[in-house]
Amino acid sequence: MSETTHAPVTSRDAFAPDAPYGLRIGADEVATDARFPAIDPSTGATWTEVPQADAGHVEQAVQAARRAFASWRRTSPAQRQEALWRMADAVEADPARWACLLATENGRPIREATVADVPTCAAILRYFSGLARDLRGDQIPVERPDSLVYTTREPLGVIAALIPWNSPIITLANKLGPALAAGNTVVVKPSEYASPSVLEFARLVQDILPPGVLNVVTGFGPEVGAALVSHPDVAKITFTGGSATARQIMSAAGRVLTPAIMELGGKGAMVVCADADLDAAVADALTGIFMANGEVCVAASRLLVHEDVHDEFAERFTRVARRIVVGDALDPATQFGPLVSAAQRDRVLGCVERAVAEGARPLVGGAALALPAPLDGGFYLAPTLLQDAAGRTSGSREEVFGPVAVLERFRDEDDAIARANAGPYGLAAGVWTRDLARAHRVARALEAGIVWVNTWFDLPVGAPMGGVGDSGFGRELSAETLREYSAPKVVNVDLSTERPDLWGQ
Ligand code: NAD
Repeated sequence: MSETTHAPVTSRDAFAPDAPYGLRIGADEVATDARFPAIDPSTGATWTEVPQADAGHVEQAVQAARRAFASWRRTSPAQRQEALWRMADAVEADPARWACLLATENGRPIREATVADVPTCAAILRYFSGLARDLRGDQIPVERPDSLVYTTREPLGVIAALIPWNSPIITLANKLGPALAAGNTVVVKPSEYASPSVLEFARLVQDILPPGVLNVVTGFGPEVGAALVSHPDVAKITFTGGSATARQIMSAAGRVLTPAIMELGGKGAMVVCADADLDAAVADALTGIFMANGEVCVAASRLLVHEDVHDEFAERFTRVARRIVVGDALDPATQFGPLVSAAQRDRVLGCVERAVAEGARPLVGGAALALPAPLDGGFYLAPTLLQDAAGRTSGSREEVFGPVAVLERFRDEDDAIARANAGPYGLAAGVWTRDLARAHRVARALEAGIVWVNTWFDLPVGAPMGGVGDSGFGRELSAETLREYSAPKVVNVDLSTERPDLWGQ
């Protein structure tokens, strides 16, 4: 039985939209015949309805984005800069409303939504607002003296952005910021588990962006998402989600030769050396795996701890994990909310059960939690630590995408590096040590897009974000991201006054 304590049930003040949501297509909110429920994961109750698009709506949205592209691409960098800045202002105007919506939508504890999602979303939009003024080509030094060769950066056209349910407005800003700054227009397909926040965002910015620059089609991945990624008028796909979905999208995109940016899953290995500051390492490990309910691509889901400090680390970690306050995402006292859906909770539980059957041992958690009414219909799971000293179970290899860390024991640096690099993913990894040379040596050896030293979860705007291996390709959040959303055009000018007569003119 879990010793996790539960938050007291407070009066719920869940988010309510001003009006029923429609699809955002061009200037309009389009009602659909079919709708599906948005479920509040804290209670399991329906809190609003989401329009369900079909292939016809996808066609309309792509054509609206195509029409808008003709003029949006001709806007000045200053106009795009101002639009993005105003979008950030609009998001920041009512952070409490946003935090309430995000907690209601996907179960992210409101204390996190307040300090993380809203400011980060705005910061990303402001960063790309600045970069809109700095998208520049090159003048190319060439051999022929009478040539002037230069490049301009051209927008690509209609961008299809497919996003997951965790941190929806941050992921949205990661796509919209660079795509709009570079002069593209966008059709967004949000997750079926986090659509209202994206529809709400579209409402918020409707007077800032010209009609058709941002379109949103909601519905299910295999229908709406699949229709969007196989559309021949989509110039580029930008996807954040699971590796299995990415494979399906790549194969559909291959048929219409559409390139893609892929931000995929991970299995973040945190290497804790014997000389680490253990208090700080334990604190970062707890944040690394339990922040946002563990539903994070860069979660610290593998804790590789040196054998000399392994037992002490385990003792300190479990002591705190047992006291984590699990409860209603809307309650400011809640440290850890529900998982996004019953299916996700059951999937995570299945991963835990499989790992345990293969030899892993739960040190804390490992089971679903039943909370009192009105939270009795919610999707709760105890924060979990499994011990798999040898790192041989599926829990040490597969992405769980939930609040489950696996604790492994390593002998020496080579052993730690070999284990950390063993899986197919390469998104985030980290090393905890006071030895400067070791920190850089291990950072160099870890195969990941992001390596943290004595910290975790710090993703500063401006630092390229992305992975290697099954964690995907392309980089977000940085200056080079703008290049992903634009292509060079070469202009080659002949400056000569005479030309050789090759044809006997
Ligand atoms: P998912 O892959 O199930 O869905 C992502 C999006 O793709 C959703 O909008 C979904 O509707 C759509 N989709 C599903 N099937 C599709 C298809 N056949 N064609 C087109 N679109 C389709 O992911 P999820 O469960 O929503 O999110 C969790 C995953 O996202 C995890 O693997 C996590 O690691 C990853 N993730 C990665 C990052 C990153 O930056 N690397 C960030 C957040 C989440």
